[in-house]
Amino acid sequence: MLTSANIPDNHPRAKSLLERERLVEGFRKGLVVPEGLIAYGRGEAFDYIIGGRTEGFAQKAIRAAAAALLMAKKPVISVNGNVAALLPEKVVELAKTVGAAIEVNLFYRTAERESAIAEVLKESGAAEVLGVGKNASARIPELMSERRKVDPRGILVADVVFVPLEDGDRTEALRKMGKTVIALDLNPMSRTSIAASITIVDNVVRAIPLLVEEAKKLRHSGNLRNIVDFDNEKNLQEAMIHVARRLENV
Ligand code: ATP
Ligand code: MG
Repeated sequence: MLTSANIPDNHPRAKSLLERERLVEGFRKGLVVPEGLIAYGRGEAFDYIIGGRTEGFAQKAIRAAAAALLMAKKPVISVNGNVAALLPEKVVELAKTVGAAIEVNLFYRTAERESAIAEVLKESGAAEVLGVGKNASARIPELMSERRKVDPRGILVADVVFVPLEDGDRTEALRKMGKTVIALDLNPMSRTSIAASITIVDNVVRAIPLLVEEAKKLRHSGNLRNIVDFDNEKNLQEAMIHVARRLENV
């Protein structure tokens, strides 16, 4: 439940404040780690500069991402604490729409947090959640953090992995394993953004619902192959030009 009693409706940043409340609530419930709160703040700073809207470059990436997920043989959505706290229902809806598995993947892995996140996803309608406890028995080569632990039925064998809020190391490692990686990151300069196959430069709270809508629209399209043809470097350049213009025009 949101503890939104003291956020006035007409506050210019009411939405953002409510999202903070949701994260803090997730922190109290043991889904989110303190580091996750800091990471969100870093995202907010970029969102402020971007203008708090889904721009054209994000729309294009969302469309390509929807097509890639629909075309995938084994798509997997990787979920961390922040995403589970912010919009678990939308993650489940996306998984159902594109036929993807859901896997918990945490940088700061503890059994309690894994279970809490899996629980929230199940309450939101997920039939199965991979990567919990001893099920995360496989390893991504070359990675040192706890994030190298993956489920042999999920990320290990996936062809397309959607990683909202991923870190750069793991994105690079997943690419080296030959996977198509779809990242969602408000920072167009991060190693994650640069290493991914498709980077959506947008806030997870706006982009994931739009991704669901786009996947529903494209579900019956015969033209996915053309849509999935996507130049990530060019699109990131567009995002950077947008950022530069915003700063120039202040
Ligand atoms: P990299 O390793 O990719 O260079 P990082 O791992 O150092 O980056 P962190 O600070 O660990 O980056 O993770 C936070 C990242 O997640 C930031 O790039 C931030 O922009 C992004 N982020 C945080 N919250 C959101 C959000 N709500 N929507 C989209 N992106 C977000
Ligand atoms: Mg990092």
